[in-house]
Amino acid sequence: MKSLIPLSIRRFLGVRYEAWQAARQKNRLLRSLAGDAVECNICGWVGACFTDDLWHPQTVCPQCRSQVRHRMLVAILDGKSTVSGASQADLLAGKEILHFAPERQLRERIKATAKRHVTADFDRGDCDLKLDMSAMPSVANASYDVVIACDVLEHVPDDRAAMRELRRILRPNGTAILTVPQKDPPATTDEDPAITAPNEREHRFGQKDHVRMFGDDFAIRLTDVGFQVTTLSIADFPPSIASRLILHPPQPNPHPLATNHRRIYLARV
Ligand SMILES: [Zn+2]
Repeated sequence: MKSLIPLSIRRFLGVRYEAWQAARQKNRLLRSLAGDAVECNICGWVGACFTDDLWHPQTVCPQCRSQVRHRMLVAILDGKSTVSGASQADLLAGKEILHFAPERQLRERIKATAKRHVTADFDRGDCDLKLDMSAMPSVANASYDVVIACDVLEHVPDDRAAMRELRRILRPNGTAILTVPQKDPPATTDEDPAITAPNEREHRFGQKDHVRMFGDDFAIRLTDVGFQVTTLSIADFPPSIASRLILHPPQPNPHPLATNHRRIYLARV
């Protein structure tokens, strides 16, 4: 759309103009989605429907960009699931937590309830620690009560080594809170270390930097390294909560790499 503001003034305002324009577009989007059918349990936005991501229509909060997995985890923390022992008070309150690839939608909430909240990432510069999850010699045994890693293990070449490391750094009775993209319908994990080209990885595993597409055996891999695993899915929420918070895509994508069915894994030491 052609701007009514002269180019010279837009150039003079620079970044501030771009920020103003982005805010204006966002406000227009939010107004167009006015309603009361869905709710984001992270930022509190209420509207007619969420916006689209690359794979699924109407699954992303237009205000905070939360996705299904973020809202499902927060719904669990809010005690909305039918599984006992999985609320914020059970999982996070007063705990020492190591949070990998910390999502801005979750970071402050987790920090607010934790005794200590340490962030980590392999690449990012905005975290407390730079860690390769599959080898963490700088982290002592039994250092944390909780590890959170949402959609991280599909990027890690040796995921079994990473699972062993997570178990090692957790204290007795500690919990790893994990999510991964999974094939839908789920099958066995598809991986091939020989596939290294980004385009081939995207074609085979769904994203340029993914090294595998997990299947239903993800929980078995966790069990194999000694974790006791509880898996939560949409079936563990009242239907009214699941449809209000959109814990499953309203229009599932039939593509074999579409991850329609998200789960939260509680892997206990
Ligand atoms: Zn939101």
